[in-house]
Amino acid sequence: MERVFNFSAGPSVIAESVLRKAQAELVNYGDAGMSVMEMSHRSPVYQSIIDETEALLREVLTIPDDYAVLFLQGGASSQFAMIPLNLANGSGQIDIVLTGQWATKAQQEASKYCEVNVVGSSKDKTFSYIPKLDKKTFNPNADYFYYCSNNTIYGTRFSEIPDSGNVPLVTDMSSCILSEKIDVTKYGLIFAGAQKNMGPAGLTVVIVRKDLIGKARDITPTMFNYEIHEKNGSMYNTPPTFAIYMCKLVLEWLKNDIGGIEAMEEINHKKAKIMYDYLDSSKVFKPTVYGADRSYMNIPFITGNEELDKAFVKAASAAGFVNLKGHRSVGGMRASIYNAMPVEGVEKLVEFMKNYEVAL
Ligand SMILES: *Cc1c(COP(=O)(O)O)cnc(C)c1O
Repeated sequence: MERVFNFSAGPSVIAESVLRKAQAELVNYGDAGMSVMEMSHRSPVYQSIIDETEALLREVLTIPDDYAVLFLQGGASSQFAMIPLNLANGSGQIDIVLTGQWATKAQQEASKYCEVNVVGSSKDKTFSYIPKLDKKTFNPNADYFYYCSNNTIYGTRFSEIPDSGNVPLVTDMSSCILSEKIDVTKYGLIFAGAQKNMGPAGLTVVIVRKDLIGKARDITPTMFNYEIHEKNGSMYNTPPTFAIYMCKLVLEWLKNDIGGIEAMEEINHKKAKIMYDYLDSSKVFKPTVYGADRSYMNIPFITGNEELDKAFVKAASAAGFVNLKGHRSVGGMRASIYNAMPVEGVEKLVEFMKNYEVAL
């Protein structure tokens, strides 16, 4: 069977050249005489893999030296607890913007450890927009200000970084990291599960300003303490060795084949424009998000008729456009067009949708 165009929200498409490289090196990595999967994480050859991964990530995202890069496990969801356990150590109060299910989960988890002040929410309209924020409602004594940069389920994104003043910004970039240029210095902490734009599931990347490390609460489990992971070069215990190696291949692809983060951003904007231009003109398919809040990565759309939605998803799948079913809380469809989705995949999907619309 041929490879399909995979619009999955995560785990998601990985560039075929990356998979081929992994395949070529799978059984015997370089001169190692074994697979990366079989290596001791304490071996010099593995140390060079993790070092190169970190160096590439620092280069691609322009991460300054006063930030630590941690390669962890437990998914983005573990960060919902790990962040308050490490950072909510002053006033014990934090600010948060509720823009979807992931931010809500972060709120619920943080509430176990600190006082959570909601400074904006778009729950009233199924999280289909980014709420306007009023700086006057922000707590100047908050230990951090939390938001989710790109809302995977609802297809919204913050087009502007909230201005939290001196309060460190903490953001979930699971579904948009590496998709566009970012100014890391604006953030106290950035985290992302790898399975959308960085490689396979099993790896969670945390980029954290070093001065925020080292103040974890006494009750913090050792494995949830950033300081432990920083001091041990992400090797306090066995890291997700193969997932980190895959992340290295993805970063090499992004740097060498794509041409870096600016080139990636341009391609992503082009892909999103193709989708939105069509959705805005279609008489059958309608976008669920409008204006500057539209995500470049996850594009939900509906027909307004559940039966038709179902029939479309089925027909698209049979034609090789898979995983287009929307999240159950939004319904309809969702095309996740992460970094590794080629322009061609989006063009062909739109062509398929146009033909489907005409044939109705
Ligand atoms: C996928 C996703 C998560 C959950 O990630 P896990 O690694 O499954 O815990 C959290 N936040 C966002 C924005 C996501 O897209």
